[in-house]
Amino acid sequence: MSGHLEVITGPMTKRCSSCKKYKNLLEFNKNSKKPDGRRGTCRKCEKIYFKKWHEKHPLHKRNEHFKRRYGITLEERNKMISSSNGICNICNEKPKGKRKELMIDHDKNTGIIRGTLCFRCNIALGSFDHDINKLLKAVKYLGGTP
Ligand SMILES: [Zn+2]
Ligand SMILES: [Zn+2]
Repeated sequence: MSGHLEVITGPMTKRCSSCKKYKNLLEFNKNSKKPDGRRGTCRKCEKIYFKKWHEKHPLHKRNEHFKRRYGITLEERNKMISSSNGICNICNEKPKGKRKELMIDHDKNTGIIRGTLCFRCNIALGSFDHDINKLLKAVKYLGGTP
């Protein structure tokens, strides 16, 4: 059964480049690019680093969320809103009440941004499932000519 060279599996230690402490290799996150397969900074220090980074960049999370949802950055959104003078594309009014922010309205199927809407108009469109036929029927119902 023997004959193999015994592999030393004892805890390997490595010095963290941030806190300068010697720590078990398992305390470092993996990084396949490094010769020992681990990062140079320990997990604890990385956590602190990321926390600080997010504190310094409070908009980052919001930005990420925005990009994922609308495919545009917050900056582009702000540009859109300022180019529409903060006015809703349907009722031509500035949003009032609790929801003073204009919303970006986008086509869920194509991802194309249609414009900026106030909360109320956005909800109204949602109630009609963004369905033009239903909206036309509503116009007819109210006595208008679609
Ligand atoms: Zn450290
Ligand atoms: Zn509106």
